[in-house]
Amino acid sequence: MDTDKLWRKISQDLKNELSSASLRTWFSGVSISSVQKDIVTLSTPSGFIQENIKSRYLKLIESMLEKALGNKATVEFTIVPSISKPQTNEPQQEDFFVKDYATVTPTLNPKYTLENFVVGLSNNVAYAAAQAVSQNPGTSYNPLFIYGGTGVGKTHLMIAIGNAILAKNPNYKVIYCSSEKFMNDYVTAIQNRKMGDLRNKYRSTHLLLIDDIQFFSGREGTQEEFFHTFNDLQGKNAQMVITSDRPPHEIAKIEDRLKSRFAGGLMVDIQPPDFDTRVAILKAKCMERGESLPEDSLKLIASSMQSNIRELEGKLIQITQLLKAQDLPPTVENISGHLNQLVARMPSDHKQVLSAVCRFFDLNLKDLTGPKRQKELVLPRHITMYLLSEELGMTVEKIGQVLGGRDHTTVMHGRDKVKNALDKDQEVQKLVNEVKRAISP
Ligand code: ADP
Ligand code: MG
Repeated sequence: MDTDKLWRKISQDLKNELSSASLRTWFSGVSISSVQKDIVTLSTPSGFIQENIKSRYLKLIESMLEKALGNKATVEFTIVPSISKPQTNEPQQEDFFVKDYATVTPTLNPKYTLENFVVGLSNNVAYAAAQAVSQNPGTSYNPLFIYGGTGVGKTHLMIAIGNAILAKNPNYKVIYCSSEKFMNDYVTAIQNRKMGDLRNKYRSTHLLLIDDIQFFSGREGTQEEFFHTFNDLQGKNAQMVITSDRPPHEIAKIEDRLKSRFAGGLMVDIQPPDFDTRVAILKAKCMERGESLPEDSLKLIASSMQSNIRELEGKLIQITQLLKAQDLPPTVENISGHLNQLVARMPSDHKQVLSAVCRFFDLNLKDLTGPKRQKELVLPRHITMYLLSEELGMTVEKIGQVLGGRDHTTVMHGRDKVKNALDKDQEVQKLVNEVKRAISP
């Protein structure tokens, strides 16, 4: 039987068995590349897709092949990238499953630069401050404290400062970490009596970037340690950049002496982007992805989402992919049809997220939150962690609780794996978008 015909047959069978979301997610871009004796080779667009097909659907596909061919067949896989991926030197997506997050050297994401940060009325002051700090680290504005809502570009700007400073001073020691990582390092150092190592690490850096410091709230020991780190670094003119979702005086349970330190440098906020900035950002993201959309289409998408640039970008990707799959041009008419379906239906409580993830991945809640460690449970769990943290703003501790009493460090690792993967891999972006769509109020 010729390979196309065989694949059409299998696709038809799959269509009868799977939801259209699962079909789109896992099987677009898949085909049969060869049939030799009883070996059928499936060609998949990425290792990520391949892993998931293997763990979820291999048995099903084998039985369909047996039916179609009249004999038992062994499935082998090959990877044939179908869409141009963003160029990157970083590990490919297979690492998502294989490598422990902790063994990946933390580096600054090269994707975030000052050059590709789109400047508008909502963020021009923060941008100017970032430029000034990049040009003269440690001297003028220390610390630089950037605050603003979710997805407005705080992390982007902070890492861009790091990249700019490293480009000029390649020997600089730069530490970027979430406040949770700092907290964790502190707790581990106490447990293992390694405070000296902790101090060596954080106090020998030229540039310290601490993301989302609002999570220091209520952490007295961590605050104490950070206070001394701060003073030490400031005394050495080492630059610090701090981000938060609110200004220092609004963070609950933070020592006054820290608040006054934070406010003692330069404090800037980033507002939700205005309409023109949203259009400009969409334009820039299209260019980065080598796509072009008509101006009025971009405006339509920009008008559908007010504040969160991460989601705006997600929507752009989702729509262009949907239209591509249907072979439709990205006109206003075609887009508006999809926009209605895609209106962000963000959940208000974690139960909605958990049940949507279960529905989407065909799991029961017990498995998702239980102790089993099978491969097919890992990704849904990580995605849940990511969504609860990023969309609902839950603390990692709370997320650990609702996921059956998992440790908060486990939650951090899972969430960050998805975050990192989202930066690099279109397949993961697509998957997370599909899961989000499965969440209804
Ligand atoms: P925050 O840390 O404030 O939650 P991020 O820095 O993670 O937000 O930004 C979310 C996404 O939006 C990132 O992909 C980032 O590159 C993008 N983004 C935000 N602001 C801009 C901007 N002004 N220009 C280009 N991209 C932006
Ligand atoms: Mg951030």
